[in-house]
Amino acid sequence: MVEINFLGGASEVGKLGMVMRLREKKLLFDYGMAPGKPPSYPAPAPPVDATFLTHAHLDHSGMIPWLCRKYKTSVIGTRVTKEISELLQKDSVKISKAEGYSIPYSSQDISNALNSWVDINPGDTYELEGTRIIAHPSGHIPGALMFEINNDSTMVFTGDLQTMDMHLLKGAKPVRCDTLFLEGTYAGREHEDRKTLEKKFIEQIDEVLARNGKAIIPAFGVGRCQEVALILKDQGFQVWCDGMGNAITRIFLRNPGFLYSAKALNKVHKRMKEVRTSHNRRAALQDGVVITTSGMLDGGPVLWYLEQIKDDPRSAIFLTGFQVPGTNGRQLLDNGTINSRGAKEKINCGVKHFDFSAHAGHSQLVRFAKACKPEKIVLFHSEDRTPLAEELKDFAEIFLPEDNKKLSI
Ligand SMILES: [Zn+2]
Repeated sequence: MVEINFLGGASEVGKLGMVMRLREKKLLFDYGMAPGKPPSYPAPAPPVDATFLTHAHLDHSGMIPWLCRKYKTSVIGTRVTKEISELLQKDSVKISKAEGYSIPYSSQDISNALNSWVDINPGDTYELEGTRIIAHPSGHIPGALMFEINNDSTMVFTGDLQTMDMHLLKGAKPVRCDTLFLEGTYAGREHEDRKTLEKKFIEQIDEVLARNGKAIIPAFGVGRCQEVALILKDQGFQVWCDGMGNAITRIFLRNPGFLYSAKALNKVHKRMKEVRTSHNRRAALQDGVVITTSGMLDGGPVLWYLEQIKDDPRSAIFLTGFQVPGTNGRQLLDNGTINSRGAKEKINCGVKHFDFSAHAGHSQLVRFAKACKPEKIVLFHSEDRTPLAEELKDFAEIFLPEDNKKLSI
């Protein structure tokens, strides 16, 4: 039996942190924040013996610098996760300064936290006094891991999970275990068939270009930007990339072992043009296909492009990911407007939404869970865990932990 306590993220997508007490040791799995203006944070972590970080997204990694300033703990994750989380954390410090709110650590804390890092690769084992923790790829973004914890029993913590092969990386494979900690972002929701979605996406960009419009593609810099670039790689039009995606692509290419095909991404990187100056930005718009951050239109270069095309009916915005309620992207889908410099602005160009998600859909989660053959399943990281719990309850004992309530399993 182990005791767990979610500091955040049990019943929501965001600010995840789970403490696991194993005999006399305390392990922490992920420690993130919910990005927002200002962000929100999980409960303060207790001192822990080791911290396992599944991946770089801020809702999983955002509070690591705070943790490392407060306590001496090792942070175990991949090299790619280290490089990308550093970049994302520094960006959030920069945004907080520009927006005038504070976050609980400094750029110096972020740099210092790198000294606590222990690099691990998929397949590697980390030993902690009688407990063996094995890293497995989770298929979500390059460098993302699941952790298999072997003590008296075997447990698997998925972090964010994708089981389907994407262009950028391969899907996760099930791991036999007694207890499965399963994320449920897409509980109760299925994805459209990916091939059909990609075909539609390419056709609609072609239509925009054929009528002399511009196709602006907001995409998250980590993973989505590169996935979209790979989808568009053989279409014969010039693609530009603006914003953080360029730096992330370089990190991925420096760590080719985490990719499905480093050769394919390298080819895309060579062909794709990078926006570095405002002159480039105008050229990018002229050529007509731009992948840019932020993915939910809440800042970054995408707002400049939006300003240029918003009244042009020939042009279109192609959203490529889930749009969180409260963001400009969600507002655009719901009522055709965004908030820009304090005022509501009507967007009159085309708006399309393609969900190239990096999370497993409902049936994929169910299939994965069954193939792991667990006796117990702990569901977390979901706005509504009921559909998954319902479907899996005859197969395993289901646990639905709540934040800041200890649970023995
Ligand atoms: Zn994630």
